[in-house]
Amino acid sequence: MTRTLALFLIAFLMSPVAWSQVADTVLLNGKILTVDERFSTQEAIAIDDGKILATGKNADIRKFVGSGSRVIDLEGRTVVPGLIDSHLHGIRAALSFSTEVNWIGATSLDDALGRIRSASRAMKPGAWLIVAGGWNVQQFKEKRLPTQEELIAAAPDNPVYIQLGYGWVLMTPAGYRALNISTEADLPAGGRFERTQDGKLTGAVTGAQSAIVALFDKLPLPSPDQQVDGTKRFFRELNRLGLTGFIDPGGNNLSPGDYPAVFKVWREGKLTVRVAYALNGQTSGKEFEEYQSLTRLLPMGFGDDMLKFNGIGERITWDMNNNDRPTEAQKDRYYQIIKWAAEQGITLTMHWGRDASVDQLLTLFEKLNKEVPISGLRWSIAHLNDASEKTLQRMKALGVGWTVQDAMYFGGEQFQQQNGAEAARRVPPVNTAGRIGVQVGAGTDAHRVASYNPFTALQWFLDGKTVGGVAIRGLEETPSRAAALRFYTTGSAWFSHDEKKRGSLEAGKLADLAVLSKDYMTVPVDQIGSIESLLTMVGGKIVYAAGPYLKFQD
Ligand SMILES: [Zn+2]
Repeated sequence: MTRTLALFLIAFLMSPVAWSQVADTVLLNGKILTVDERFSTQEAIAIDDGKILATGKNADIRKFVGSGSRVIDLEGRTVVPGLIDSHLHGIRAALSFSTEVNWIGATSLDDALGRIRSASRAMKPGAWLIVAGGWNVQQFKEKRLPTQEELIAAAPDNPVYIQLGYGWVLMTPAGYRALNISTEADLPAGGRFERTQDGKLTGAVTGAQSAIVALFDKLPLPSPDQQVDGTKRFFRELNRLGLTGFIDPGGNNLSPGDYPAVFKVWREGKLTVRVAYALNGQTSGKEFEEYQSLTRLLPMGFGDDMLKFNGIGERITWDMNNNDRPTEAQKDRYYQIIKWAAEQGITLTMHWGRDASVDQLLTLFEKLNKEVPISGLRWSIAHLNDASEKTLQRMKALGVGWTVQDAMYFGGEQFQQQNGAEAARRVPPVNTAGRIGVQVGAGTDAHRVASYNPFTALQWFLDGKTVGGVAIRGLEETPSRAAALRFYTTGSAWFSHDEKKRGSLEAGKLADLAVLSKDYMTVPVDQIGSIESLLTMVGGKIVYAAGPYLKFQD
């Protein structure tokens, strides 16, 4: 072969639009919400080798069909980019997914206790029944907590542990016996027995978040096999709801010993959700040493498109966690860590609750930004539901993004009682953030404090209603359907540096998508929460299929 011919062939093979290109998968006859810059809708999509070749009209995309192509008829259904939760404690939730009892979506206490009853029948006597979170009193039509008597009646032969958020745990006497807790002194520091007004014990434990975290840590861990099984099953459950990625923000009850399950599933090539994870120092006062040692062999971004290291957070230090009035010494220690992170080019996400005190944090970020610029590092603040316009402007100036969760779905009534209806109308102010240009990612903060269902969160973005059905948010801060979907896709992808790879359905991007059971754009808002995926793809591979698409299961 002459040199000229060889060069010609190489140029031909490398040309981006080879005219005889064949797709391994083609989806036709759909309503494909690409979530590109213009939020354009297309009919069809061609996929090859995990990536999107093209989107367009049926006639144009049909040209990619070859003899070996898998052709899927969407029959008019709506397709969205795979959803990405920018703040989901998914690694932790997965470990116990196959061994915990789930109260997510239970509409009555009766239903919830029924799940305990059937779990107690399915499990051996003596095995723990654990509800680790993801529920709230407002979701029950009875609008009250379970009593210890009800738990004993539901599971007489098993120790039972029920956690609500990070403030309350109810156990049965068998549970207290199994953990060797007989007096208040046996509880972790900061915990106490709850009493009624006339001083009677209720069977519950309340107190500091750290006490509840430590109490949970006393529970036996699922075995390594159960953890791997739970991880696979939890990720398929996310696929069922159209999720193809999440950013894990570290956090409570997640130590290095909790990662082998997700690493094993990744190593086996069986991950069905893309995971970007942050590491979190766990020992109060020793966080800086822990970050330095954990990241020494783990450079920023290390991993691949399925699993990668995405920096540190969400609780950088224990003593700045939910602390509205940190001391100078506490701030100095914090500053030392964030300065180091900026110098290493490490992404950081920080949990912050209230706008009233966020100046404490932003002042440190601003001081640092003068020393070591942070604007390119994709730092973010999580929660901060009542962010003021001024705060959002400061975040914008720093290039700091905002991960927004549907915390008000569970906590809206309480927020309204504490801050008034007027303040609650603008919570969270996502339209103001959009106007200012702050990057917004959507998510849930599941599964201790919320459900992981992205459609619950999307419906809540659009109607502002709590789980109890109370509409709290005003129109001024209610995003359009398109904007809310953008938060859950490209918006979230930004936080793991991935918006050029995924989050929208455009040529060259990873083929992560979900075919929905209902049209997200036109279905009545109160039905959005019940949408599920019928077909979910991650990198062009079918990871979940139901109904008409069962036959396509990879
Ligand atoms: Zn948090």
